[in-house]
Amino acid sequence: MLAQVLGLIGGGQLGMMLTEAAKKMPQYISEVIVLDPTKNCSAAQVGAKQIVADYKDKDAILELASKVDILTYEIESGNSEVLKMAEAKTTINPSPETLRIIQDKFLQKSFLRENNMPVTDFVAIESLDDLKEKINDFEYPALLKVRRDAYDGRGNYKIKSENDLEKSYPYFAGKTLMLERFVDFKMEVSVIAARNTKGQIATYPVVENIHENNILRMTITPARVSPSVAMQAEKVAHDTMQVLHGAGVFGIEMFVTSQDKILINEIAPRVHNSGHHTLQSSATSQFEQHLRAILGLELGNTKLLHPTIMYNILGSDNFQGRYKITAPKLENVYLKMYGKTESKPQRKLGHFNLVDADNTLGAEGLLESLESIKNQIKLEPV
Ligand code: AMP
Repeated sequence: MLAQVLGLIGGGQLGMMLTEAAKKMPQYISEVIVLDPTKNCSAAQVGAKQIVADYKDKDAILELASKVDILTYEIESGNSEVLKMAEAKTTINPSPETLRIIQDKFLQKSFLRENNMPVTDFVAIESLDDLKEKINDFEYPALLKVRRDAYDGRGNYKIKSENDLEKSYPYFAGKTLMLERFVDFKMEVSVIAARNTKGQIATYPVVENIHENNILRMTITPARVSPSVAMQAEKVAHDTMQVLHGAGVFGIEMFVTSQDKILINEIAPRVHNSGHHTLQSSATSQFEQHLRAILGLELGNTKLLHPTIMYNILGSDNFQGRYKITAPKLENVYLKMYGKTESKPQRKLGHFNLVDADNTLGAEGLLESLESIKNQIKLEPV
């Protein structure tokens, strides 16, 4: 195979780590070109060429498509219609059709339900009257969700009682909505799964995700679940990959219910924050795996070599502006900053992986070490 030019829509931290993985496979990828609105974006800082434009800019997407052999993306909010046009110029994975289904939570859940994958009850909502009628089939609380372009839980409204109905609907004025049964979960988990262009599927072991204010705070690998729950989660992920078309790495977020059942919450058609641990914990990182999948190469080994905690470094709530980070060199702690010049509240600025290199600490031991490490990594305004 001749080395290919890789195009990437989105050059934030995911694009950065994909670019770094691409640089390690020069026999397959000769060059990376990203499209990102921020000048000198994270991916450009590690050697990607950049087209500076909005992710949805039609001309820019078509220009990128005409320059590359293979096109992928790190964001799910791309314009799938424009991507379908760009398919005439290049190969796109995951396919624009897969993206179209995934980027609308209602279409995504409908697709999963039609394919017998486990999801909570849900229904599309067309108007306030429609909501008032359909809520009768659900219990309180229920979740009103924005179907498209909602991040970090900002598109969710918890309807606690009948009294919330009138104010919940206008809260998302102008957006298409759905209603979802509230899941009484005991843990949020995810599986990073890959499917290559030839149909080969590989899943990483299930991980445990801890959120704060709807943002991923940390991922504990492996998840603290029973072997049977772990098997269920990995099987659900595997089966999901079998029904989804298109190739690449997908992040499949799930709930473990109080009855130890797995329900899929949502799928990200891209490398995922809960897979960053693979950079040190696994034989193949999720970034290399994504590239292998879209290039049609044999997928890499997904075996977990070391239990690991991935901890996100988030911008503090009360500060916006330039910052510096001070961190001592610590054994088994791998800090990765994303080269973002400005901190903003809750912005993902970097992460570190705390690795159980001798496989002796386990999750509890890692959590104990984490406490002191967190306090030694300091973000300060400059
Ligand atoms: P989402 O907007 O689907 O990414 O959800 C953001 C967060 O809201 C999830 O990580 C869960 O903590 C919570 N959540 C989403 N859907 C449900 C649900 N049906 N029941 C309970 N919690 C949910």
